[in-house]
Amino acid sequence: MVSKKLIEEHLISLFQALRSSLYSFPSRAKRYVFLLRRVSMKYRYRLPREMKHSFCKHCYTPFTPGVSCRTRIKKGYVVYTCFSCKKLTKIGYR
Ligand SMILES: [Zn+2]
Repeated sequence: MVSKKLIEEHLISLFQALRSSLYSFPSRAKRYVFLLRRVSMKYRYRLPREMKHSFCKHCYTPFTPGVSCRTRIKKGYVVYTCFSCKKLTKIGYR
């Protein structure tokens, strides 16, 4: 059994790579989302909120505001419209 701390470190390094490749290498960023999800599912480790909300929940395209998604604020939640699958992802806030 792999320790929780190791999984967390792996996820964080993947997430940093995802963040840094968002604008310069969109296709690489999509691959990082795939890896993030795969690692979290393999070890049944729940993705932290900021990671979970960084990509489209329908097609797993990473959200890059203004490039791959439209961001709008409604009462109580933020709406992301994905440009590749045209679906909405709503994320609540308080
Ligand atoms: Zn999408």
